[in-house]
Amino acid sequence: MALRSDRDVIIIGGGLAGLTAGIMLSRAGLDILILEKGTYPSHKVCGEYISNEVLPFLKSLGLDPFRLGASRISRLRVSTPSGKSIYAPLDLGAFGLSRYVLDQAMCDLAMNSGAEVLTRRKVTEVIFEQNGFSVKTNTEEAFTAPLVIGSYGKRDTLDKQLERDFIQERTGYLGVKYHIRTDYPVDEIGLDNFEGGYCGISRIEDEKYNLCYLYRRPRSAVHKTIPDIQEHIMFQNPVIRNIFSHSDFLFAKPEVIQDFSFEAKSAVEDHILMCGDAAGLITPLCGNGMSMAIHGAKILSELLIAAGVTELTPEKRRKLESEYTRQWQKHFRQRLFWGRTIQGLFGNETVSEIAIRALHAIPAVERALIAATHGSPIGA
Ligand SMILES: Cc1cc2nc3c(=O)[nH]c(=O)nc-3n(C[C@H](O)[C@H](O)[C@H](O)COP(=O)(O)OP(=O)(O)OC[C@H]3O[C@@H](n4cnc5c(N)ncnc54)[C@H](O)[C@@H]3O)c2cc1C
Repeated sequence: MALRSDRDVIIIGGGLAGLTAGIMLSRAGLDILILEKGTYPSHKVCGEYISNEVLPFLKSLGLDPFRLGASRISRLRVSTPSGKSIYAPLDLGAFGLSRYVLDQAMCDLAMNSGAEVLTRRKVTEVIFEQNGFSVKTNTEEAFTAPLVIGSYGKRDTLDKQLERDFIQERTGYLGVKYHIRTDYPVDEIGLDNFEGGYCGISRIEDEKYNLCYLYRRPRSAVHKTIPDIQEHIMFQNPVIRNIFSHSDFLFAKPEVIQDFSFEAKSAVEDHILMCGDAAGLITPLCGNGMSMAIHGAKILSELLIAAGVTELTPEKRRKLESEYTRQWQKHFRQRLFWGRTIQGLFGNETVSEIAIRALHAIPAVERALIAATHGSPIGA
């Protein structure tokens, strides 16, 4: 096995968290290697609705989503499982842009900032010894660095190696994404509830729409396949049935992920600094997992730049790890909690029917819940 050059920081996973860290750390003069198991551009399971809290920061990095064709989203429609829709304004607002376009643009920025991005490199092993890391890939390469950022998303075999608690559980969560062409308001995100899940629709670039749903399959599920779940469970909501039957589906088959977890995770594992979904995944109905991934990477990068990665003594490392954990908790712990709590109201048909109508009857509570799961705009 070839031992490849030493870097200042190795970033495992080039999604939004990893690429943001790659851009910021490279611009601070650090030697950065991003190892990504996939390629760019690629489709990912995601609602592709991005809270405006991250817009000023993205622009400060040099990425203007509207130049890439993003749509502007300013209001929310929620339907009960029986198909009754209610509406609410989105004070902060959002934009819609596919991961196919966004991740590619972020990858270009990272490379232009000086980061090396190696694709088709799945990290298979990370070992911490003698105050440094060695990282191995599926291509039989090995890299070393004093610091490793784990930004490899919701779940990976690395989580098994690290024996993280959440990876043991088969959660039954299923995420499914399509791109469609359809007749739907350009400035509206729809969140349509059904027994066991919810389905989002919102506009992205090129007059396309993202249609993405989350479903929690019960252990004793009768309907197990995607067509069966759609036909027998989701289509009980007439709004969802109508969207599916009046749209052109643009993928040959949907993007699918399963068995991810919304439980609390640790921000540092065996000295790996976890970032984005690897540090904690907020429920998709909050629509700001991407903003949190970007924001978390910004917090981590600023800490690393301030600490300096050369001559990182064990004492300095310990302080860095505890400060990162503290900041992560301060910014995101409560949002994750509210995300889980609100999602809990939507799983059961009767409860969600009552909860949606009750919340809508008290606009101040409805607004407060939207605000509790979102942050304030993040600047440069
Ligand atoms: C159904 C669903 C809908 C969602 N909808 C929205 C939404 O509308 N808005 C929103 O803001 N958020 C949404 N989210 C959440 C959002 O997608 C995530 O929070 C966001 O993608 C996190 O970014 P990340 O960089 O942490 O992870 P990712 O974007 O998943 O990136 C991780 C990267 O790591 C790579 N990788 C994994 N393992 C390895 C390895 N061993 N070696 C090398 N590379 C590896 C992967 O290929 C990937 O590119 C949704 C989530 C789900 C499940």
